[in-house]
Amino acid sequence: MDDQQWHTVEAAAALANLESDRDCGLSSTAVEQRQAEYGPNAIQETGGRSRLRILLDQFTNVMLLMLIGVAVISGVLSLRAGETPKDAIAIFAIVLLNAVLGYLQENRAEQALSALKQLSAPAVRTLRQGEIREVPAAALVPGDIILLEAGDQVAADGRLLEAANLQARESALTGEAQAVTKKAEIVLEADAALGDRKNLVFQGTEIVQGRAQVLVTRTGMKTELGRIADMLQGVEAEDTPLQRRMGQLSNALVLGSLILVAIVVIGGVVAMGWQAFEELLTVSLSMAVAVVPEGLPAVITVTLAIGTQRMVRRQALIRRLPAVETLGSVTTICSDKTGTLTQNKMVVQSVHTPSGGWQVSGEGYAPEGNFLQAEESIQPLEQPVLALLLLDCVLCNDAVLQKQDGEWAIMGDPTEGSLVVLAGKAGLEQQPLTYQFKRRAEFPFSSERKRMSVAVEAAEDSRFQFDSPYLLLAKGSPEILLDYCNAVAVESLGETEAMERGWRDLVLQTNERLAGQGMRVLGFAARPLTEIPDADDPDAAERDLVWLGMVGLIDAPRPEVREAVKRCRQAGIRPVMITGDHPLTARALAIDLGISETGAEALRGQQLEQMSQPELEEAVQRVSVYARVAPEHKLRIVQALQKQHQVVAMTGDGVNDAPALKQADIGIAMGITGTDVSKEASDMVLLDDNFASIVAATEEGRVVYSNIRRFIKYILGSNIGEVLTIALSPLLLPVVAVPLTPLQILWMNLVTDGFPALALAVEPPEPNVMNRPPYDPQESIFARGLGFYMVRIGIIFGIIAIMLMLWAYDYAQTTPGDPDRWKTMVFTMLCLSQMGHAIAVRSDRRLAVEMSPFSNPFILLAVGVTTLLQLALVYVPPLRNFFGTHALTLTELAVCFGFSTLIFVWVELEKLFIRAWMRSHRPVEKRTVQ
Ligand code: ATP
Repeated sequence: MDDQQWHTVEAAAALANLESDRDCGLSSTAVEQRQAEYGPNAIQETGGRSRLRILLDQFTNVMLLMLIGVAVISGVLSLRAGETPKDAIAIFAIVLLNAVLGYLQENRAEQALSALKQLSAPAVRTLRQGEIREVPAAALVPGDIILLEAGDQVAADGRLLEAANLQARESALTGEAQAVTKKAEIVLEADAALGDRKNLVFQGTEIVQGRAQVLVTRTGMKTELGRIADMLQGVEAEDTPLQRRMGQLSNALVLGSLILVAIVVIGGVVAMGWQAFEELLTVSLSMAVAVVPEGLPAVITVTLAIGTQRMVRRQALIRRLPAVETLGSVTTICSDKTGTLTQNKMVVQSVHTPSGGWQVSGEGYAPEGNFLQAEESIQPLEQPVLALLLLDCVLCNDAVLQKQDGEWAIMGDPTEGSLVVLAGKAGLEQQPLTYQFKRRAEFPFSSERKRMSVAVEAAEDSRFQFDSPYLLLAKGSPEILLDYCNAVAVESLGETEAMERGWRDLVLQTNERLAGQGMRVLGFAARPLTEIPDADDPDAAERDLVWLGMVGLIDAPRPEVREAVKRCRQAGIRPVMITGDHPLTARALAIDLGISETGAEALRGQQLEQMSQPELEEAVQRVSVYARVAPEHKLRIVQALQKQHQVVAMTGDGVNDAPALKQADIGIAMGITGTDVSKEASDMVLLDDNFASIVAATEEGRVVYSNIRRFIKYILGSNIGEVLTIALSPLLLPVVAVPLTPLQILWMNLVTDGFPALALAVEPPEPNVMNRPPYDPQESIFARGLGFYMVRIGIIFGIIAIMLMLWAYDYAQTTPGDPDRWKTMVFTMLCLSQMGHAIAVRSDRRLAVEMSPFSNPFILLAVGVTTLLQLALVYVPPLRNFFGTHALTLTELAVCFGFSTLIFVWVELEKLFIRAWMRSHRPVEKRTVQ
């Protein structure tokens, strides 16, 4: 079956060959058998980095390279002195451990990303056992019949059974950017090139227009894409801007530390002569290790990963890691209306034809309800124009109404589904009618055309009689459809009046009245046809139409959106609505949700088109509602906002939204209604299509960013303290001695700093996180006092450590015991200081006593465990030997604890001081964020 040339056979022959059925698809037993035979429909990704590559990449990190350098020099020095190169071995061990940890983390991150990708893997509409179901792409087998429409990514190779205006972009396969028109009825020669096989569709390509029914012929690695699977991009673990900046920072620090080493060694030799060279080299090696925050990259990676997990829990799936960070600085959220701000559960509320208007009762998608005129129920099918409008509803429609698990549900577009429901309420059933009135041509809906039409064979039905063999049935936005109408159906399709000014005004007035009530309005029109229209020429078919009437649909706002809009505004983020709907419909909802104030203007797509870029840039600052917008307008809106230095999050679901999603700082695709193409172009996918989830994700983004700043503050301050202590010790002490060995410093930087830093990474949000304007995304990570804090605290650290060192040195020389134990006291005090610092640094303003210690139990755990580990290093003999520490008496330990609380006290006093200062300088009027 595999070497079959599918493009050379008729659709029917292909069906027979694969033992499938056009109306029913495969049976579940056949599916099971074939799944066992062919395996899952998945491409084995080969594009990602190999495990070995990930491991080797660890050693390209400059910090590790420098540590290796330190280990080599320290090893040579020890060997020359006839000692075991303990430090060197330990540093090597730590380098290896760090590389393994880095490897595990990156490997996990890659796996997590591909798992996330799986989560957003497309579902395919598949015909099985006579029913259309959504099936995961991986479960497809040869012989399955799938339905494709604009925006879908094709999930397997297949032979077209039926295609309407189908165009596919096959650049993934052929490199050809232009979309290719596809046709089901043709049969090709065997030697047709891949790009010319117009009766086939291929996995990984995109449907940009039209609709099709396809017989799956090949799956998994057997598909054309599978054969060249290397081309498939692997999951890329992209560095975030922050990771890149931190990478640059560590390069700078490494360089800085090498310069420091050179200065200390050269300066020392000049001052003290060559005999001090080795001692000086040892001191400077310690300094080199102390400068570099070895634990930082790991903590940042973990924090970003935790961030993505927290966001998934709030229904936002991150597709590119940098989005986690950017989300925290979003200033404008541009959102679609339907489905994101509203529930996308459309219900037709009223119907209007030239001869009258009716309210429609009933709830949800159940086709049960009445047509009411002045509270009186009527028989809709007795009204000829209304009956024709309802027939239009059923036939000019691609949605399917089905009962699933006892509940009525819609497969397809809810707007269209609601029309099937409406016709059902009048007693028109979808299935028999679509069977009777065979569809012969169609001109699909797109957000640009804002209309759709079909040509059907005019069947004889007891309720409908037509004089022509075919009918064109159209529906779409009333203003647009009206332009194609030249008559109004007063009594029936045959008894019409010319579409004169009076009729036109009446239609537009009704349209505006319904739209003003927040309804989505759809107009209907029809025309008798003598022949089947040319499928490639919509303009020729959709002309001289007869106006039938319109329906008004309501789509209630999502209940949680009002609150989310409010939170957005409090957080200094501007919500903007962009919709294809009527300006009045859009405005009514925008006012209701608090997106715009009463009377604020809504800008139409048409007006926007006429604006120059500078005019638009000016307009985007005040306009919060855009209506009757086509996807290409979205791109211009994003660009204009970005020109105004806004950080823009933009939602989208259609194929044509992809450019705007790519351009936006955060492109957001819809998880439920979004097309595969829009998901591919996005940075984030909303699993529940809900606006409130965007706001939740920005909150998480802010939390991640402030937690990263928090532990950078925490880690780098201590590095500065260590360096100062080591650098000043030869000047202040009567001997050239290293208070801290490289091994002890690594222990501090990786373990005693690392654990609490990881705990700080999961710190819960500060209460004001959504009560302040967003930070400038361009700002340095050290902005807003962070750099100053680090230097300040680093110096305090240094001063405290040096005070202790001076005292402890004298004490150790003058009391019984090992004269070198002052070093252990300095080491222990520095480690313990960081415990207090971790507790204090949790909040910028709130004192430690004002926060519940259990709001982040990990801090307590990290502080407890790390303190015990530190004590183990001092009191457990093998560890003591290894780390070169000395046992301390209880008094000495108490002194260390005493000194170590000073940093905590200092940070808390700073908070009190800042609070007092802010109170005395607070502006008289409280600023409210617009
Ligand atoms: P939103 O931005 O609010 O999600 P949208 O931009 O997706 O909405 P469209 O779906 O492009 O809006 O709809 C624009 C207009 O096109 C609607 O107001 C309606 O009049 C018309 N319309 C919508 N769906 C269909 C359809 N299936 N067939 C014909 N016309 C439609």
